Amino acid sequence: MKKQIDVMGSGLIGSLVSIYLAKRGHEVNLFERRVDMRKNRISAGRSINLALSDRGFRGLAGAGLQDAIREIAIPMYGRQIHHMDGSQSFQPYGKEGQAIYSVSRGGINMRLMELADQYPNIKIHFEHRCVEVDPKSAKAKVLNEASGEVVERTPDIVIGADGAFSPVRHSLQTKTDRFDYSQTYIESGYKELVIPPDANGGFQMEKTALHIWPRKSFMLIALPNLDGSFTCTLFLPFEGEVSFSKLNTDQEITAFMQEYFADALPMMPGYLEDWHANPTSSLSIVRCNPWNYKDKVCLIGDAAHAIVPFYGQGMNCGFEDCVVLDELMESLGDDNWTEVFNNFSRLRKPNGDAVAQLALDNFIEMRDKTGDPKFLLRKQIESRISKENPSFLSLYAQVTFSPHISYAQAYQAGQRHDHYLNELASIEQVMDKWNTPEVQSIIRDLLSAE
Ligand SMILES: Cc1cc2nc3c(=O)[nH]c(=O)nc-3n(C[C@H](O)[C@H](O)[C@H](O)COP(=O)(O)OP(=O)(O)OC[C@H]3O[C@@H](n4cnc5c(N)ncnc54)[C@H](O)[C@@H]3O)c2cc1C
Repeated sequence: MKKQIDVMGSGLIGSLVSIYLAKRGHEVNLFERRVDMRKNRISAGRSINLALSDRGFRGLAGAGLQDAIREIAIPMYGRQIHHMDGSQSFQPYGKEGQAIYSVSRGGINMRLMELADQYPNIKIHFEHRCVEVDPKSAKAKVLNEASGEVVERTPDIVIGADGAFSPVRHSLQTKTDRFDYSQTYIESGYKELVIPPDANGGFQMEKTALHIWPRKSFMLIALPNLDGSFTCTLFLPFEGEVSFSKLNTDQEITAFMQEYFADALPMMPGYLEDWHANPTSSLSIVRCNPWNYKDKVCLIGDAAHAIVPFYGQGMNCGFEDCVVLDELMESLGDDNWTEVFNNFSRLRKPNGDAVAQLALDNFIEMRDKTGDPKFLLRKQIESRISKENPSFLSLYAQVTFSPHISYAQAYQAGQRHDHYLNELASIEQVMDKWNTPEVQSIIRDLLSAE
């Protein structure tokens, strides 16, 4: 039974899920509030580049795009830490050759839309904003932003891929019974700055790393772009002693940048223009349940699970949603949509919750711990255990390089690892005592708990 499906939002996840649905023969109308970014060079959203990892590649593989995207992605093999004293250190993300990939948000979104356009059964409608949906009938109101006309849609199914502030989700919240919803803002916001290419068009810093300036309650990060530039993101509390609220004049901004990011500042000649031109954006976490209403409406991507960006997993998780939905359509059949959507929500919700928590935890790790000797010792211990026991996968490896392990399983494993790694790190001179019965017995316990 082929269905008429309206997908709201042609961002990263809406474009990809449309392709998965079209491959199964469904008629897809994809509605996007914005103009076509391929014709109008608008920014494709908040952050210019994103870290893509194995779960994301798995999602792209279903659309046949993994190789094309790998070609326009820059591998980042680890974190390059910029310490306060000006020194730098490198922390690999995984085993040799393992990397996460810096990709342009706009670039990947445009590739997905180009591919979607090649399917005769996908029609993209730009400047069409979904206003509301009736979950019981899947009727939707869509506003043509250019003409002001409201179009009444009557598809079989509506998929809400309309991002963190999803109107489709709002309709589920206000028009169905017992829909759980929460939105929480964290105390920090972010601002984007740029390190441009050098005079010869080259990179001013190591290109194959994600750069971090950890400063306890705040941090600056930088990801490489193909044109030799780096997109930098400053994460800083809105209020407090060191906060956006204290940085109002050029003098205050310059003094702050000089004090905390002295080695980055000479590479950022336009930091004041960027500071004033770019917004200070907030970061929120959205949790809701269920993600569907019967066989009529289903949420996917940030609309279902907006998370903070510190594990680099929001897009990756959304791409994984598409794979799981496709697998359910395959196993349960395209004529059993209530079962498909109920199972999708039931399977994915715990994973959305787990990745939301992992992302919050990683904020503390990145801004606070990457410069801390105790944390570095734990990393050293973890890495030696991995080397000596190749089947042992660290939490980071499970989340980033092991798409067959769910986020929820990875989160549980991380909790177990914490216990044993802390125990090992508390042993004085543990690395020198590696082969003692005391250390080896804790390692055995850790491995047998897996
Ligand atoms: C600073 C920052 C850094 C990040 N870094 C990473 C990273 O490194 N790795 C990673 O995996 N993730 C990262 N993310 C998360 C990632 O950006 C999101 O998870 C991802 O963009 C979600 O895709 P989406 O398609 O669900 O939503 P969106 O990208 O928000 O797309 C939603 C689309 O719906 C459209 N829309 C909205 N309302 C309507 C409407 N009413 N009608 C029609 N269309 C509508 C929007 O215009 C948009 O095109 C980061 C996020 C931030 C904020």
